[in-house]
Amino acid sequence: MSKGLRNLVVVLGDQLDRQSSALVDLDPDQDRVWMAEVSEESTQVWSHKARTALFLSAMRHFRDGLKEEGIKVHYRQLDDKGNRGSLAAELRAAIHKYQPERLIMVEPGDWRVQESMRTVAKEEGLELEEREDRHFLSSSDDFRKHAKGRKSLRMEFFYREMRRRHGILMDGDQPEGGDWNYDKENRGDFGKKGPGQVPMPPRFAPDPITREVMDLVERRFPDHPGDLRHFNWPVTPQEAEVALDAFLRDRLPDFGKYQDAMWTEEPFLYHSLLSAAMNLKLLDPRRVIRKAEEEYRAGRAPLAAVEGFIRQILGWREYVRGIYWLYMPDYLERNALQARNQLPPFYWTGETEMNCLQSAIGQTLEHGYAHHIQRLMVTGLYTLLFGVDPKQVHEWYLAVYVDAIEWVELPNTLGMSQFGDGGVMASKPYVASGKYIQRMSNYCEECPYDPAKRTGDKACPFTTLYWDFLIRHRERLSSNPRMSMQLKNVARLDREEIKEIQQSATQHRRSVACSQG
Ligand code: FAD
Ligand code: SF4
Repeated sequence: MSKGLRNLVVVLGDQLDRQSSALVDLDPDQDRVWMAEVSEESTQVWSHKARTALFLSAMRHFRDGLKEEGIKVHYRQLDDKGNRGSLAAELRAAIHKYQPERLIMVEPGDWRVQESMRTVAKEEGLELEEREDRHFLSSSDDFRKHAKGRKSLRMEFFYREMRRRHGILMDGDQPEGGDWNYDKENRGDFGKKGPGQVPMPPRFAPDPITREVMDLVERRFPDHPGDLRHFNWPVTPQEAEVALDAFLRDRLPDFGKYQDAMWTEEPFLYHSLLSAAMNLKLLDPRRVIRKAEEEYRAGRAPLAAVEGFIRQILGWREYVRGIYWLYMPDYLERNALQARNQLPPFYWTGETEMNCLQSAIGQTLEHGYAHHIQRLMVTGLYTLLFGVDPKQVHEWYLAVYVDAIEWVELPNTLGMSQFGDGGVMASKPYVASGKYIQRMSNYCEECPYDPAKRTGDKACPFTTLYWDFLIRHRERLSSNPRMSMQLKNVARLDREEIKEIQQSATQHRRSVACSQG
Protein backbone atom coordinates (compact mmCIF):
# COMPACT_ATOMS: atom_id res chain seq x y z
CA MET A 1 0.00 0.00 0.00
CA SER A 2 1.46 3.39 -0.99
CA LYS A 3 1.41 6.10 1.66
CA GLY A 4 2.09 9.77 1.70
CA LEU A 5 -0.11 11.00 -1.13
CA ARG A 6 -0.87 14.68 -0.70
CA ASN A 7 -3.92 15.33 -2.87
CA LEU A 8 -6.23 12.97 -4.66
CA VAL A 9 -7.65 15.19 -7.40
CA VAL A 10 -11.10 14.08 -8.53
CA VAL A 11 -11.84 14.70 -12.22
CA LEU A 12 -15.38 13.85 -13.27
CA GLY A 13 -16.48 13.00 -16.81
CA ASP A 14 -17.72 16.52 -17.53
CA GLN A 15 -14.61 18.22 -16.11
CA LEU A 16 -12.13 17.48 -18.88
CA ASP A 17 -10.47 20.87 -18.73
CA ARG A 18 -6.69 20.86 -18.41
CA GLN A 19 -6.88 24.47 -17.14
CA SER A 20 -9.42 23.61 -14.44
CA SER A 21 -8.92 25.04 -10.97
CA ALA A 22 -8.41 21.52 -9.57
CA LEU A 23 -5.37 20.91 -11.78
CA VAL A 24 -3.56 24.27 -11.71
CA ASP A 25 -1.41 23.52 -8.67
CA LEU A 26 -1.13 19.76 -9.16
CA ASP A 27 2.30 18.42 -8.29
CA PRO A 28 2.99 15.13 -10.11
CA ASP A 29 5.37 14.07 -7.34
CA GLN A 30 2.85 14.44 -4.53
CA ASP A 31 -0.59 14.27 -6.10
CA ARG A 32 -2.62 11.83 -8.16
CA VAL A 33 -5.65 12.31 -10.38
CA TRP A 34 -8.66 10.07 -9.85
CA MET A 35 -11.10 9.26 -12.66
CA ALA A 36 -13.69 6.51 -12.93
CA GLU A 37 -16.08 5.08 -15.49
CA VAL A 38 -19.01 3.54 -13.63
CA SER A 39 -22.21 1.89 -14.79
CA GLU A 40 -24.34 3.98 -12.42
CA GLU A 41 -23.77 7.07 -14.56
CA SER A 42 -25.25 5.28 -17.58
CA THR A 43 -28.12 3.60 -15.77
CA GLN A 44 -29.22 6.32 -13.31
CA VAL A 45 -31.24 7.35 -16.34
CA TRP A 46 -31.41 4.94 -19.30
CA SER A 47 -28.62 6.68 -21.22
CA HIS A 48 -28.38 6.87 -24.98
CA LYS A 49 -25.45 4.77 -26.21
CA ALA A 50 -23.87 7.81 -27.88
CA ARG A 51 -24.00 9.78 -24.63
CA THR A 52 -22.12 7.05 -22.76
CA ALA A 53 -19.66 6.51 -25.61
CA LEU A 54 -18.91 10.23 -25.84
CA PHE A 55 -18.19 10.56 -22.13
CA LEU A 56 -15.99 7.45 -22.00
CA SER A 57 -14.02 8.31 -25.12
CA ALA A 58 -13.43 11.92 -24.03
CA MET A 59 -12.41 10.75 -20.54
CA ARG A 60 -9.91 8.20 -21.90
CA HIS A 61 -8.37 10.78 -24.23
CA PHE A 62 -8.07 13.20 -21.31
CA ARG A 63 -6.46 10.52 -19.13
CA ASP A 64 -3.92 9.75 -21.82
CA GLY A 65 -3.07 13.44 -22.16
CA LEU A 66 -2.40 13.73 -18.42
CA LYS A 67 -0.26 10.60 -18.44
CA GLU A 68 1.79 11.94 -21.32
CA GLU A 69 2.58 14.93 -19.12
CA GLY A 70 3.86 12.58 -16.43
CA ILE A 71 0.84 12.95 -14.16
CA LYS A 72 -0.19 9.84 -12.24
CA VAL A 73 -3.80 8.91 -12.89
CA HIS A 74 -5.84 6.35 -11.02
CA TYR A 75 -8.32 5.45 -13.76
CA ARG A 76 -11.01 2.80 -13.46
CA GLN A 77 -12.44 1.53 -16.73
CA LEU A 78 -15.98 0.29 -16.92
CA ASP A 79 -14.73 -3.16 -17.91
CA ASP A 80 -12.01 -3.36 -15.25
CA LYS A 81 -12.36 -6.44 -13.08
CA GLY A 82 -14.17 -5.62 -9.86
CA ASN A 83 -15.40 -2.18 -10.99
CA ARG A 84 -17.74 -1.24 -8.17
CA GLY A 85 -20.29 0.48 -10.40
CA SER A 86 -20.65 3.80 -8.59
CA LEU A 87 -18.51 6.91 -8.20
CA ALA A 88 -18.87 6.77 -4.42
CA ALA A 89 -17.71 3.16 -4.11
CA GLU A 90 -14.80 3.67 -6.49
CA LEU A 91 -13.66 6.84 -4.74
CA ARG A 92 -13.85 5.16 -1.34
CA ALA A 93 -11.69 2.29 -2.58
CA ALA A 94 -9.09 4.72 -3.96
CA ILE A 95 -9.03 6.62 -0.65
CA HIS A 96 -8.31 3.37 1.18
CA LYS A 97 -5.57 2.53 -1.29
CA TYR A 98 -3.74 5.86 -1.42
CA GLN A 99 -4.67 7.42 1.93
CA PRO A 100 -4.45 10.98 0.64
CA GLU A 101 -4.28 13.95 2.97
CA ARG A 102 -6.98 15.74 1.05
CA LEU A 103 -9.47 15.49 -1.83
CA ILE A 104 -9.67 18.26 -4.40
CA MET A 105 -12.41 18.62 -6.95
CA VAL A 106 -14.06 21.25 -9.13
CA GLU A 107 -17.70 21.76 -8.14
CA PRO A 108 -19.69 19.08 -10.02
CA GLY A 109 -22.44 19.81 -12.55
CA ASP A 110 -24.96 17.61 -10.83
CA TRP A 111 -26.36 18.00 -7.33
CA ARG A 112 -26.63 14.21 -6.80
CA VAL A 113 -22.94 13.69 -7.62
CA GLN A 114 -21.90 16.60 -5.41
CA GLU A 115 -23.81 15.10 -2.49
CA SER A 116 -22.31 11.68 -3.00
CA MET A 117 -18.73 13.02 -3.17
CA ARG A 118 -19.31 15.08 -0.05
CA THR A 119 -20.73 12.07 1.78
CA VAL A 120 -17.73 9.92 0.92
CA ALA A 121 -15.30 12.60 2.11
CA LYS A 122 -17.23 13.09 5.34
CA GLU A 123 -17.50 9.40 6.11
CA GLU A 124 -13.82 8.87 5.37
CA GLY A 125 -12.92 11.84 7.58
CA LEU A 126 -11.16 13.68 4.74
CA GLU A 127 -11.18 17.30 3.79
CA LEU A 128 -12.81 17.86 0.39
CA GLU A 129 -11.78 21.10 -1.21
CA GLU A 130 -14.36 22.10 -3.80
CA ARG A 131 -13.02 24.66 -6.20
CA GLU A 132 -14.94 27.01 -8.44
CA ASP A 133 -15.61 25.89 -11.99
CA ARG A 134 -13.75 28.63 -13.87
CA HIS A 135 -15.07 27.37 -17.19
CA PHE A 136 -18.19 29.48 -16.61
CA LEU A 137 -18.25 33.26 -16.97
CA SER A 138 -20.52 33.66 -13.96
CA SER A 139 -20.14 31.77 -10.69
CA SER A 140 -23.05 30.43 -8.62
CA ASP A 141 -22.31 33.20 -6.11
CA ASP A 142 -22.41 35.87 -8.84
CA PHE A 143 -25.81 34.56 -9.83
CA ARG A 144 -27.06 34.55 -6.25
CA LYS A 145 -26.07 38.21 -6.02
CA HIS A 146 -27.84 38.95 -9.29
CA ALA A 147 -30.98 37.18 -8.02
CA LYS A 148 -31.00 38.77 -4.57
CA GLY A 149 -33.89 41.13 -4.01
CA ARG A 150 -35.46 40.56 -7.44
CA LYS A 151 -39.10 39.61 -7.48
CA SER A 152 -38.68 37.58 -10.62
CA LEU A 153 -35.69 36.59 -12.69
CA ARG A 154 -35.45 37.16 -16.42
CA MET A 155 -32.65 36.00 -18.67
CA GLU A 156 -32.62 39.25 -20.65
CA PHE A 157 -31.51 41.37 -17.67
CA PHE A 158 -28.88 38.87 -16.65
CA TYR A 159 -27.62 38.75 -20.24
CA ARG A 160 -27.25 42.54 -20.45
CA GLU A 161 -25.32 42.49 -17.20
CA MET A 162 -23.01 39.81 -18.62
CA ARG A 163 -22.46 41.74 -21.85
CA ARG A 164 -21.46 44.81 -19.87
CA ARG A 165 -19.35 42.94 -17.34
CA HIS A 166 -17.37 41.04 -19.96
CA GLY A 167 -17.37 43.77 -22.63
CA ILE A 168 -18.87 41.51 -25.27
CA LEU A 169 -20.51 43.04 -28.35
CA MET A 170 -20.35 46.46 -26.75
CA ASP A 171 -19.80 49.87 -28.27
CA GLY A 172 -18.58 51.84 -25.28
CA ASP A 173 -21.32 51.37 -22.69
CA GLN A 174 -23.96 50.75 -25.35
CA PRO A 175 -24.82 47.48 -27.07
CA GLU A 176 -23.23 47.04 -30.46
CA GLY A 177 -25.66 48.18 -33.18
CA GLY A 178 -27.90 49.96 -30.66
CA ASP A 179 -30.04 46.99 -29.56
CA TRP A 180 -29.37 44.32 -26.97
CA ASN A 181 -31.33 41.69 -28.78
CA TYR A 182 -31.98 40.89 -32.45
CA ASP A 183 -34.36 38.03 -31.78
CA LYS A 184 -37.01 39.46 -34.11
CA GLU A 185 -34.64 38.85 -37.03
CA ASN A 186 -34.01 35.31 -35.89
CA ARG A 187 -37.32 33.62 -36.50
CA GLY A 188 -37.15 32.78 -40.19
CA ASP A 189 -38.54 29.64 -41.80
CA PHE A 190 -37.39 28.00 -45.03
CA GLY A 191 -40.60 28.58 -46.98
CA LYS A 192 -41.84 26.03 -49.50
CA LYS A 193 -38.45 25.67 -51.20
CA GLY A 194 -36.81 24.28 -48.11
CA PRO A 195 -33.28 24.86 -46.83
CA GLY A 196 -31.46 23.84 -50.03
CA GLN A 197 -27.86 22.73 -49.60
CA VAL A 198 -26.91 23.03 -45.92
CA PRO A 199 -23.15 22.93 -45.15
CA MET A 200 -22.21 19.61 -43.57
CA PRO A 201 -20.61 19.54 -40.12
CA PRO A 202 -17.05 18.12 -40.15
CA ARG A 203 -16.51 14.36 -39.82
CA PHE A 204 -14.67 12.95 -36.83
CA ALA A 205 -13.80 9.40 -37.72
CA PRO A 206 -13.73 7.27 -34.54
CA ASP A 207 -10.12 6.56 -33.54
CA PRO A 208 -9.08 3.32 -31.76
CA ILE A 209 -10.10 4.71 -28.34
CA THR A 210 -13.54 5.70 -29.57
CA ARG A 211 -13.97 2.38 -31.38
CA GLU A 212 -13.02 0.52 -28.23
CA VAL A 213 -15.59 2.35 -26.08
CA MET A 214 -18.24 1.94 -28.76
CA ASP A 215 -17.72 -1.84 -28.61
CA LEU A 216 -17.80 -1.69 -24.83
CA VAL A 217 -21.04 0.29 -24.78
CA GLU A 218 -22.66 -2.14 -27.23
CA ARG A 219 -21.60 -5.05 -25.00
CA ARG A 220 -22.52 -3.52 -21.64
CA PHE A 221 -25.67 -1.61 -22.57
CA PRO A 222 -27.13 -3.49 -25.57
CA ASP A 223 -30.74 -2.59 -24.75
CA HIS A 224 -30.10 1.12 -24.13
CA PRO A 225 -31.70 3.61 -26.50
CA GLY A 226 -29.93 5.06 -29.47
CA ASP A 227 -27.57 4.12 -32.17
CA LEU A 228 -23.79 4.36 -32.50
CA ARG A 229 -23.56 4.02 -36.27
CA HIS A 230 -23.69 7.78 -36.75
CA PHE A 231 -21.40 8.72 -33.85
CA ASN A 232 -19.60 11.89 -34.91
CA TRP A 233 -18.85 13.96 -31.82
CA PRO A 234 -15.57 15.69 -31.03
CA VAL A 235 -13.85 13.81 -28.20
CA THR A 236 -10.72 15.95 -27.74
CA PRO A 237 -10.07 19.72 -27.45
CA GLN A 238 -8.38 19.60 -30.88
CA GLU A 239 -11.46 18.09 -32.51
CA ALA A 240 -13.72 20.53 -30.67
CA GLU A 241 -11.67 23.39 -32.12
CA VAL A 242 -12.14 21.97 -35.63
CA ALA A 243 -15.89 21.80 -34.99
CA LEU A 244 -15.89 25.41 -33.78
CA ASP A 245 -13.94 26.73 -36.77
CA ALA A 246 -16.14 24.87 -39.25
CA PHE A 247 -19.26 26.28 -37.62
CA LEU A 248 -17.94 29.85 -37.62
CA ARG A 249 -16.95 29.57 -41.26
CA ASP A 250 -19.88 27.65 -42.73
CA ARG A 251 -22.96 28.08 -40.59
CA LEU A 252 -22.73 31.07 -38.24
CA PRO A 253 -23.78 33.65 -40.87
CA ASP A 254 -27.15 31.87 -41.27
CA PHE A 255 -27.44 30.68 -37.67
CA GLY A 256 -29.63 33.55 -36.53
CA LYS A 257 -32.04 33.64 -39.43
CA TYR A 258 -32.86 29.92 -39.26
CA GLN A 259 -32.40 29.33 -35.56
CA ASP A 260 -36.02 28.28 -35.05
CA ALA A 261 -36.61 26.48 -38.36
CA MET A 262 -36.96 22.70 -38.75
CA TRP A 263 -36.86 20.38 -41.75
CA THR A 264 -37.17 16.62 -42.24
CA GLU A 265 -33.90 14.76 -42.86
CA GLU A 266 -31.95 17.88 -41.79
CA PRO A 267 -31.06 17.19 -38.18
CA PHE A 268 -28.40 19.91 -37.78
CA LEU A 269 -29.21 22.80 -40.15
CA TYR A 270 -27.25 25.91 -39.10
CA HIS A 271 -26.69 24.93 -35.48
CA SER A 272 -23.23 24.71 -33.97
CA LEU A 273 -23.32 21.21 -32.38
CA LEU A 274 -20.94 22.57 -29.76
CA SER A 275 -22.98 22.03 -26.59
CA ALA A 276 -21.51 18.62 -25.75
CA ALA A 277 -17.93 19.82 -26.31
CA MET A 278 -18.56 22.82 -24.07
CA ASN A 279 -20.38 20.81 -21.42
CA LEU A 280 -17.58 18.25 -21.16
CA LYS A 281 -15.19 21.25 -21.01
CA LEU A 282 -13.32 20.32 -24.18
CA LEU A 283 -14.09 23.81 -25.41
CA ASP A 284 -13.95 27.06 -23.47
CA PRO A 285 -17.09 29.19 -23.92
CA ARG A 286 -14.99 32.38 -23.66
CA ARG A 287 -13.08 31.27 -26.71
CA VAL A 288 -16.30 30.41 -28.59
CA ILE A 289 -17.78 33.82 -27.78
CA ARG A 290 -14.61 35.71 -28.63
CA LYS A 291 -14.17 33.95 -31.95
CA ALA A 292 -17.83 34.50 -32.86
CA GLU A 293 -17.49 38.21 -32.07
CA GLU A 294 -14.40 38.34 -34.29
CA GLU A 295 -16.48 37.02 -37.20
CA TYR A 296 -18.80 40.01 -36.80
CA ARG A 297 -15.97 42.53 -36.37
CA ALA A 298 -14.27 41.20 -39.50
CA GLY A 299 -17.51 41.57 -41.47
CA ARG A 300 -17.87 37.84 -42.09
CA ALA A 301 -21.13 37.35 -40.17
CA PRO A 302 -24.08 39.68 -39.54
CA LEU A 303 -24.70 41.16 -36.11
CA ALA A 304 -28.11 39.47 -35.70
CA ALA A 305 -26.54 36.02 -36.19
CA VAL A 306 -23.57 36.68 -33.93
CA GLU A 307 -25.63 38.34 -31.19
CA GLY A 308 -28.18 35.48 -31.38
CA PHE A 309 -25.44 32.89 -31.03
CA ILE A 310 -23.60 34.69 -28.23
CA ARG A 311 -26.88 35.20 -26.35
CA GLN A 312 -27.33 31.41 -26.20
CA ILE A 313 -23.95 30.92 -24.56
CA LEU A 314 -23.31 34.07 -22.54
CA GLY A 315 -27.00 34.43 -21.71
CA TRP A 316 -28.98 31.21 -21.61
CA ARG A 317 -26.19 28.77 -20.80
CA GLU A 318 -24.94 30.78 -17.84
CA TYR A 319 -28.45 31.69 -16.73
CA VAL A 320 -29.77 28.12 -16.52
CA ARG A 321 -26.75 27.12 -14.47
CA GLY A 322 -27.49 29.95 -12.06
CA ILE A 323 -31.11 28.82 -11.76
CA TYR A 324 -30.08 25.20 -11.16
CA TRP A 325 -27.79 25.94 -8.24
CA LEU A 326 -30.11 28.57 -6.81
CA TYR A 327 -33.10 26.23 -6.59
CA MET A 328 -31.70 22.72 -6.19
CA PRO A 329 -32.51 20.24 -4.73
CA ASP A 330 -36.23 21.01 -4.42
CA TYR A 331 -36.37 22.26 -8.03
CA LEU A 332 -36.34 18.63 -9.16
CA GLU A 333 -39.62 17.95 -7.38
CA ARG A 334 -41.56 20.90 -8.76
CA ASN A 335 -44.75 20.21 -10.68
CA ALA A 336 -46.65 23.51 -10.82
CA LEU A 337 -49.22 22.26 -13.32
CA GLN A 338 -49.81 19.02 -11.38
CA ALA A 339 -49.06 16.96 -14.48
CA ARG A 340 -49.30 13.25 -13.69
CA ASN A 341 -49.43 11.31 -16.98
CA GLN A 342 -46.85 8.74 -18.03
CA LEU A 343 -44.31 9.49 -20.74
CA PRO A 344 -45.62 7.86 -23.95
CA PRO A 345 -43.44 4.83 -24.78
CA PHE A 346 -42.93 6.03 -28.36
CA TYR A 347 -40.45 8.55 -26.92
CA TRP A 348 -38.03 5.61 -26.73
CA THR A 349 -38.70 4.32 -30.25
CA GLY A 350 -39.98 7.18 -32.41
CA GLU A 351 -42.82 4.91 -33.50
CA THR A 352 -45.74 7.29 -33.91
CA GLU A 353 -47.77 8.57 -36.82
CA MET A 354 -47.21 12.16 -35.73
CA ASN A 355 -44.56 13.11 -38.25
CA CYS A 356 -42.96 15.93 -36.27
CA LEU A 357 -42.44 13.67 -33.26
CA GLN A 358 -41.29 10.79 -35.43
CA SER A 359 -38.64 13.05 -37.02
CA ALA A 360 -37.45 14.76 -33.82
CA ILE A 361 -37.33 11.54 -31.79
CA GLY A 362 -35.91 9.58 -34.73
CA GLN A 363 -32.93 11.91 -35.13
CA THR A 364 -32.49 11.99 -31.35
CA LEU A 365 -32.12 8.22 -31.30
CA GLU A 366 -29.84 8.30 -34.33
CA HIS A 367 -27.50 11.09 -33.21
CA GLY A 368 -28.26 11.92 -29.56
CA TYR A 369 -29.07 15.37 -30.90
CA ALA A 370 -32.01 17.62 -31.67
CA HIS A 371 -31.79 21.37 -31.86
CA HIS A 372 -33.40 23.77 -29.44
CA ILE A 373 -36.73 24.31 -31.19
CA GLN A 374 -37.18 20.59 -31.76
CA ARG A 375 -36.59 20.02 -28.04
CA LEU A 376 -38.80 22.91 -26.95
CA MET A 377 -41.56 23.07 -29.54
CA VAL A 378 -41.92 19.43 -30.64
CA THR A 379 -40.90 16.85 -28.01
CA GLY A 380 -41.26 19.25 -25.07
CA LEU A 381 -44.45 20.87 -26.31
CA TYR A 382 -46.16 17.52 -26.75
CA THR A 383 -45.38 16.28 -23.21
CA LEU A 384 -46.46 19.63 -21.76
CA LEU A 385 -49.78 19.52 -23.61
CA PHE A 386 -50.24 15.82 -22.89
CA GLY A 387 -49.70 16.49 -19.18
CA VAL A 388 -46.71 14.19 -18.56
CA ASP A 389 -45.13 14.26 -15.10
CA PRO A 390 -42.22 16.73 -15.57
CA LYS A 391 -39.81 14.46 -13.68
CA GLN A 392 -40.36 11.73 -16.25
CA VAL A 393 -39.83 14.25 -19.03
CA HIS A 394 -36.63 15.39 -17.32
CA GLU A 395 -35.36 11.81 -17.10
CA TRP A 396 -35.95 11.31 -20.82
CA TYR A 397 -34.06 14.46 -21.80
CA LEU A 398 -31.22 13.63 -19.43
CA ALA A 399 -30.96 10.19 -21.01
CA VAL A 400 -31.17 10.83 -24.73
CA TYR A 401 -29.01 13.87 -25.54
CA VAL A 402 -25.23 13.72 -25.75
CA ASP A 403 -24.98 17.18 -24.17
CA ALA A 404 -27.23 16.32 -21.21
CA ILE A 405 -25.86 17.18 -17.79
CA GLU A 406 -28.30 18.00 -15.05
CA TRP A 407 -27.30 21.65 -14.43
CA VAL A 408 -28.28 22.55 -17.99
CA GLU A 409 -30.87 19.93 -18.82
CA LEU A 410 -33.14 20.28 -15.78
CA PRO A 411 -34.00 24.01 -15.89
CA ASN A 412 -34.49 23.77 -19.64
CA THR A 413 -36.80 20.77 -19.36
CA LEU A 414 -38.67 21.12 -16.13
CA GLY A 415 -38.65 24.92 -16.21
CA MET A 416 -38.57 26.33 -19.70
CA SER A 417 -40.29 23.51 -21.52
CA GLN A 418 -42.73 22.02 -18.98
CA PHE A 419 -43.50 25.10 -16.86
CA GLY A 420 -43.03 22.76 -13.88
CA ASP A 421 -41.33 25.54 -11.88
CA GLY A 422 -44.43 27.74 -12.25
CA GLY A 423 -42.64 30.55 -14.07
CA VAL A 424 -39.06 30.77 -12.79
CA MET A 425 -37.47 30.02 -16.16
CA ALA A 426 -40.20 31.20 -18.50
CA SER A 427 -42.71 33.97 -17.97
CA LYS A 428 -45.43 31.84 -19.55
CA PRO A 429 -45.83 28.23 -20.70
CA TYR A 430 -44.43 27.71 -24.21
CA VAL A 431 -47.68 26.43 -25.70
CA ALA A 432 -48.74 26.48 -29.32
CA SER A 433 -50.94 24.45 -31.65
CA GLY A 434 -49.79 22.33 -34.58
CA LYS A 435 -49.92 25.46 -36.73
CA TYR A 436 -46.69 26.69 -35.17
CA ILE A 437 -44.95 23.48 -36.23
CA GLN A 438 -46.50 23.80 -39.69
CA ARG A 439 -45.13 27.34 -40.04
CA MET A 440 -41.61 26.48 -38.88
CA SER A 441 -41.11 23.17 -40.71
CA ASN A 442 -42.30 20.83 -43.44
CA TYR A 443 -43.27 18.11 -40.96
CA CYS A 444 -47.01 18.54 -41.48
CA GLU A 445 -46.82 17.95 -45.23
CA GLU A 446 -46.30 14.23 -44.77
CA CYS A 447 -48.41 13.74 -41.70
CA PRO A 448 -51.82 12.05 -41.61
CA TYR A 449 -53.09 14.84 -39.36
CA ASP A 450 -54.16 18.39 -40.14
CA PRO A 451 -52.71 21.11 -37.91
CA ALA A 452 -55.71 23.37 -38.57
CA LYS A 453 -58.15 20.82 -37.09
CA ARG A 454 -58.68 20.47 -33.37
CA THR A 455 -61.43 17.84 -33.47
CA GLY A 456 -62.44 15.03 -35.80
CA ASP A 457 -60.56 12.15 -37.42
CA LYS A 458 -57.80 14.20 -38.93
CA ALA A 459 -57.33 16.53 -35.97
CA CYS A 460 -53.69 17.21 -35.17
CA PRO A 461 -53.05 15.97 -31.61
CA PHE A 462 -50.95 19.08 -30.89
CA THR A 463 -53.87 21.32 -31.85
CA THR A 464 -56.40 19.29 -29.87
CA LEU A 465 -54.17 19.15 -26.81
CA TYR A 466 -53.28 22.84 -27.10
CA TRP A 467 -56.91 23.87 -26.76
CA ASP A 468 -57.48 21.29 -24.05
CA PHE A 469 -54.44 22.67 -22.18
CA LEU A 470 -55.81 26.21 -22.28
CA ILE A 471 -59.22 25.02 -21.13
CA ARG A 472 -57.76 22.93 -18.29
CA HIS A 473 -55.45 25.65 -17.03
CA ARG A 474 -57.41 28.79 -17.85
CA GLU A 475 -58.05 29.70 -14.22
CA ARG A 476 -54.51 29.04 -13.10
CA LEU A 477 -53.10 31.11 -15.97
CA SER A 478 -55.69 33.91 -15.93
CA SER A 479 -53.52 36.16 -13.76
CA ASN A 480 -50.64 35.97 -16.26
CA PRO A 481 -50.89 38.98 -18.60
CA ARG A 482 -48.77 37.22 -21.23
CA MET A 483 -51.46 34.54 -21.57
CA SER A 484 -54.34 36.95 -22.07
CA MET A 485 -54.45 36.76 -25.90
CA GLN A 486 -54.50 32.97 -25.87
CA LEU A 487 -57.09 32.82 -23.09
CA LYS A 488 -59.33 35.31 -24.88
CA ASN A 489 -59.67 32.76 -27.67
CA VAL A 490 -60.75 30.14 -25.14
CA ALA A 491 -63.38 32.54 -23.78
CA ARG A 492 -64.92 32.63 -27.26
CA LEU A 493 -65.59 28.88 -27.28
CA ASP A 494 -69.12 27.75 -26.52
CA ARG A 495 -69.92 24.81 -24.24
CA GLU A 496 -70.38 22.37 -27.08
CA GLU A 497 -66.98 23.25 -28.58
CA ILE A 498 -65.31 22.86 -25.22
CA LYS A 499 -66.92 19.48 -24.76
CA GLU A 500 -65.80 18.29 -28.20
CA ILE A 501 -62.22 19.42 -27.61
CA GLN A 502 -62.09 17.71 -24.24
CA GLN A 503 -63.52 14.50 -25.69
CA SER A 504 -60.98 14.52 -28.51
CA ALA A 505 -58.13 15.12 -26.07
CA THR A 506 -59.33 12.27 -23.83
CA GLN A 507 -59.62 10.01 -26.85
CA HIS A 508 -56.09 10.84 -27.95
CA ARG A 509 -54.68 10.26 -24.47
CA ARG A 510 -56.53 6.92 -24.29
CA SER A 511 -55.18 5.81 -27.64
CA VAL A 512 -51.64 6.60 -26.52
CA ALA A 513 -52.23 4.83 -23.19
CA CYS A 514 -53.61 1.75 -25.05
CA SER A 515 -50.50 1.63 -27.20
CA GLN A 516 -48.57 1.44 -23.90
CA GLY A 517 -50.12 -2.01 -23.50
P1 FAD B 1 -26.82 25.98 -30.90
O1 FAD B 1 -28.21 26.14 -31.37
O2 FAD B 1 -25.75 26.06 -31.89
O3 FAD B 1 -26.56 27.04 -29.73
C1 FAD B 1 -25.25 27.44 -29.35
C2 FAD B 1 -24.97 27.07 -27.91
O4 FAD B 1 -25.75 27.84 -27.04
C3 FAD B 1 -25.23 25.63 -27.53
O5 FAD B 1 -24.16 24.82 -27.89
C4 FAD B 1 -25.44 25.72 -26.03
O6 FAD B 1 -24.23 25.61 -25.35
C5 FAD B 1 -26.00 27.12 -25.84
N1 FAD B 1 -27.45 27.09 -25.62
C6 FAD B 1 -28.42 27.34 -26.51
N2 FAD B 1 -29.62 27.32 -25.91
C7 FAD B 1 -29.40 27.04 -24.62
C8 FAD B 1 -30.25 26.87 -23.51
N3 FAD B 1 -31.57 27.01 -23.57
N4 FAD B 1 -29.68 26.56 -22.34
C9 FAD B 1 -28.34 26.42 -22.22
N5 FAD B 1 -27.49 26.58 -23.24
C10 FAD B 1 -28.02 26.89 -24.43
N6 FAD B 1 -28.56 22.12 -23.68
C11 FAD B 1 -27.54 21.38 -23.20
O7 FAD B 1 -26.37 21.77 -23.36
N7 FAD B 1 -27.76 20.22 -22.51
C12 FAD B 1 -29.03 19.76 -22.30
O8 FAD B 1 -29.20 18.70 -21.69
C13 FAD B 1 -30.12 20.51 -22.81
N8 FAD B 1 -31.40 20.08 -22.61
C14 FAD B 1 -32.43 20.82 -23.12
C15 FAD B 1 -33.75 20.37 -22.90
C16 FAD B 1 -34.82 21.11 -23.38
C17 FAD B 1 -36.21 20.65 -23.12
C18 FAD B 1 -34.57 22.29 -24.09
C19 FAD B 1 -35.72 23.09 -24.62
C20 FAD B 1 -33.29 22.74 -24.31
C21 FAD B 1 -32.20 22.02 -23.83
N9 FAD B 1 -30.87 22.45 -24.03
C22 FAD B 1 -29.84 21.71 -23.52
C23 FAD B 1 -30.57 23.74 -24.68
C24 FAD B 1 -30.36 23.65 -26.20
O9 FAD B 1 -31.44 22.99 -26.79
C25 FAD B 1 -29.06 22.96 -26.56
O10 FAD B 1 -27.99 23.57 -25.89
C26 FAD B 1 -28.78 23.04 -28.05
O11 FAD B 1 -29.84 22.49 -28.78
C27 FAD B 1 -27.47 22.30 -28.35
O12 FAD B 1 -27.23 22.26 -29.73
P2 FAD B 1 -26.15 23.19 -30.43
O13 FAD B 1 -24.86 23.04 -29.75
O14 FAD B 1 -26.20 22.89 -31.88
O15 FAD B 1 -26.73 24.61 -30.09
FE1 SF4 C 1 -47.07 17.30 -35.95
FE2 SF4 C 1 -49.67 17.90 -36.12
FE3 SF4 C 1 -47.99 18.67 -38.01
FE4 SF4 C 1 -48.61 16.12 -37.74
S1 SF4 C 1 -49.99 17.76 -38.28
S2 SF4 C 1 -46.58 16.95 -38.10
S3 SF4 C 1 -48.79 15.92 -35.54
S4 SF4 C 1 -47.96 19.32 -35.90
